[in-house]
Amino acid sequence: MAKSPAEEHPVKAFGWAASDTSGVLSPLTFSRRATGEKDVKFKVMYCGICHSDLHCLRNEWGSTIYPIIPGHEIAGIVTEVGSKVEKFKVGDKVGVGCMVGSCRSCNDCDNNIENYCPKMMFTYSSIYHDGTVTYGGYSDIMVTDEHFVVRWPDNLPLDSGAPLLCAGITTYSPLRYYGLDKPGMNLGVVGLGGLGHVAVKFAKALGVKVTVISTSLNKKEEAIERLGADSFLVSRDPDQMQAAAGTLDGILDTVSATHPLLPLLGLIKSHGKLVLVGAPEKPLELPVMPLLMGRKIVGGSNMGGMKETQEMLDFAAKHNITADVEVVPMDYVNTAMKRLEKGDVRYRFVLDIANTLKAT
Ligand SMILES: [Zn+2]
Ligand SMILES: [Zn+2]
Repeated sequence: MAKSPAEEHPVKAFGWAASDTSGVLSPLTFSRRATGEKDVKFKVMYCGICHSDLHCLRNEWGSTIYPIIPGHEIAGIVTEVGSKVEKFKVGDKVGVGCMVGSCRSCNDCDNNIENYCPKMMFTYSSIYHDGTVTYGGYSDIMVTDEHFVVRWPDNLPLDSGAPLLCAGITTYSPLRYYGLDKPGMNLGVVGLGGLGHVAVKFAKALGVKVTVISTSLNKKEEAIERLGADSFLVSRDPDQMQAAAGTLDGILDTVSATHPLLPLLGLIKSHGKLVLVGAPEKPLELPVMPLLMGRKIVGGSNMGGMKETQEMLDFAAKHNITADVEVVPMDYVNTAMKRLEKGDVRYRFVLDIANTLKAT
């Protein structure tokens, strides 16, 4: 078998990896492929910690290839470009999100929704075209095909902007696709975590009225005063839920734990849409009668295509939308994972890779 570029001219890289389902991360020296003619090589500056990273570290979705180097909210600065790269030059600020490859020839790829390509390759723990395993942004450098690299808007901070590459596009795309982006509409956002808090900001920038739906009153003040939500609903309060019945045009549900859908379906108007972007491990119960009676739709959405990811980032820059982040050093990552699991972060950890990732 012919050797892949990575095997022939490997580039020494350094990152933090987990080697088994304990998910504990530790330093690892590894190889990246040499910069191919369509590749962009960049120095990683910041990388967000997504809830998916935690699931994948422990192989909770069954698709992890060990050792795994997670990270798919990656912001950096270009250090080398291949001979046929058209969009980037050395010194440019760039980002890479959840995917780094796709077939580039199927219907979905042709329609700029590479995220739905059956051969889409994730940024980490996937097999790339050349047979090598992909490694994510908890590392010093990335080598990525320019098609899967986005231009970084000048006024968007690299640290608090990084989480937009997953949390941002995952919430922006469904608002657009399901038409929940019209000024004056009423949108519910369930769960105020990494995804939810960015969803509130995008929806507000689109002119949509936002109701945050949460299991407890804890985050009410933050939701309204800090994030700009219009109202707050406690899902465990039957009186509040009853009073709000049939008032929402749609709901973006970001919760990845098992939870009942019936109360949410009751909140949406006839023809309204309940869109799920969280990924619970077990199937949810779907009551059909409320769907029939109100011609309601339950849908899903996963990330977004490269064209839309660029559009989202440009939109965020224009409207000064960033994630609320806690920037932490690389060697804090295992503690950050423990805190993330408990929901103890407002609202996204971002690893300060450039300043704190040290080769050993
Ligand atoms: Zn993610
Ligand atoms: Zn494809």
